[in-house]
Amino acid sequence: MSDWQQIIKDGSIATLEKLADKFGHDVIDVEALKPAFDNFQMRITPAALEQIKEVGDPMWNQYIPSVEELEVVDGVIDSLDEDGDSPVPNITHRYPDRALFLVSPVCATYCRFCTRRRKVGDPEKIPLNQYESAFQYLREHTEIRDVIMSGGDPMMLSDRRLEYLFQQLRAIPHIEIIRIGSRITSHLPERITPEFCEMVQKYHPIFMNTHFNHPSELTPAAVASLDRLSRAGVSLGCQTVLLKGVNDDPKVMMKLMHELLKARVRPYYLFMADQVAGGEHFRTTVQKGLEIMQALRGWTSGLAVPQFVIDSPGGGGKVPLLPEYLEQITDDEVIFRNYEGKRFVYKQPRAVPAAPAELEPAAEVGVVPISRKKPASPRRAKRRRAAGE
Ligand code: SF4
Repeated sequence: MSDWQQIIKDGSIATLEKLADKFGHDVIDVEALKPAFDNFQMRITPAALEQIKEVGDPMWNQYIPSVEELEVVDGVIDSLDEDGDSPVPNITHRYPDRALFLVSPVCATYCRFCTRRRKVGDPEKIPLNQYESAFQYLREHTEIRDVIMSGGDPMMLSDRRLEYLFQQLRAIPHIEIIRIGSRITSHLPERITPEFCEMVQKYHPIFMNTHFNHPSELTPAAVASLDRLSRAGVSLGCQTVLLKGVNDDPKVMMKLMHELLKARVRPYYLFMADQVAGGEHFRTTVQKGLEIMQALRGWTSGLAVPQFVIDSPGGGGKVPLLPEYLEQITDDEVIFRNYEGKRFVYKQPRAVPAAPAELEPAAEVGVVPISRKKPASPRRAKRRRAAGE
């Protein structure tokens, strides 16, 4: 057993009784929480436990089961209809040139808002012995150039199994990019071992979509694991989920984006929380998301601004959402407001008049009737005027 597997085995909390022992039986009502626990399993690694500072804080809300998980209003089991776009087990093929490949059924820590909670934690629903039909599908579909390994968390697989997956994917000539969707740098930074970093370099380009929702998750250990990945040449992005009671605050989100950039992780997506049954209490309004985007765009570096998207319920894919900057657009001009709310006008280019017909023969014999002299820049023209040229 690897060191990181030992840490999960020895240090994690995976039962309500142990959770109550840690936080107090007056805080954890084992009987009341049992149905939520039965619905979606719980496990919290030492790294995630350390991030919880008090009952009801953003870390607590992400990982501790709650009775609200049983209140289903608009939530659906497979809110993105991933199974509807699954041609063979473990593959979802929705977009033209990329496919999702579920390679692992388990995660180090389970997030209570998980979109894939219908499958995650259950090895029968994400089988490890059915990779072959997935590889066959990927081989036959030459339009797929980008494969996103997900699950569960792919980094819960052993290096041996991960290397097998990389080798199989790299043997398919049309697959250019391999992405790993993983929350491991937050939940179990010890998993990013020197051995993994050595191995992964043979299979570049490899991208890792990390998942951080709150600045407190960027602990020194998490940042060090991100540094190891960067040094191994893995390109790092972050997918954040907008969650009520966790990060639905412009200041928190700004801090998160800054901490990510300091760790060389490029914020990629900010997702509206999906309409998933069991996770509805995490949802906040779209207006709140737009307010947060407005508080980021222009007020901080564009590098720190992710794309804000809704993953369309029912399987329509990701759709970007933008605060309203555009006021009017005509053939002549565009009127918009900047990040401070100030109004500006951009003139549309005027139609260029067609060249006179008599010039055409000159062009045919290689004579260019228009001067090739580069126009002087405004600063250079000013200098020339001052020098009397
Ligand atoms: S790490 Fe990802 S897949 Fe695993 S429970 Fe959390 S959100 Fe779901």
